[in-house]
Amino acid sequence: MSSGKGLYDQLPATIDPIQLAERGARLVGSMPLRGMARLVATLLDGVGDALVELAFERGDNPGMAIVHGTVSASVKLTCQRCLEPMMLDLRAEPRLVFFRGGEDSEALIGNDEALEADRPMPLSEMVEDELLLAVPMIPMHELNVCPAREYVAAGQGKPNPFATLKGRKPNED
Ligand SMILES: [Zn+2]
Repeated sequence: MSSGKGLYDQLPATIDPIQLAERGARLVGSMPLRGMARLVATLLDGVGDALVELAFERGDNPGMAIVHGTVSASVKLTCQRCLEPMMLDLRAEPRLVFFRGGEDSEALIGNDEALEADRPMPLSEMVEDELLLAVPMIPMHELNVCPAREYVAAGQGKPNPFATLKGRKPNED
């Protein structure tokens, strides 16, 4: 279990996206899920790490940064079909725009979704936000591995009243 970790570097706790973009930085590493309270609240446990791979590039304007890459984690949550625990691979491919705040900066950048980055921000919050967006509304096992599949299959074996209606012409009875 521990040997795989050597692949990843220690990530900084806080980042300044604009500064990182200025030197074209790339962050590759892992961070523990247990530090992400909002995410862990949606999971069965906070075991494991998020894998982070982010590139920081300069935008068209000075004081602007474009951040893109992948954020992923293997998490444990409850299947909403069988209510048993299940593992799910979350994966997000964020593309974020940051800018230094100040007068006219928003107009300059002309991007409603641009985020203000006036001071160093916790990297784990950015990672957590991305992972939260990747959690499905209704997590479920793939049907062929879900313990509830037999129940579902049995339900499908019964004649479906709608299917019968569909095959019938309006003037048939
Ligand atoms: Zn299931």
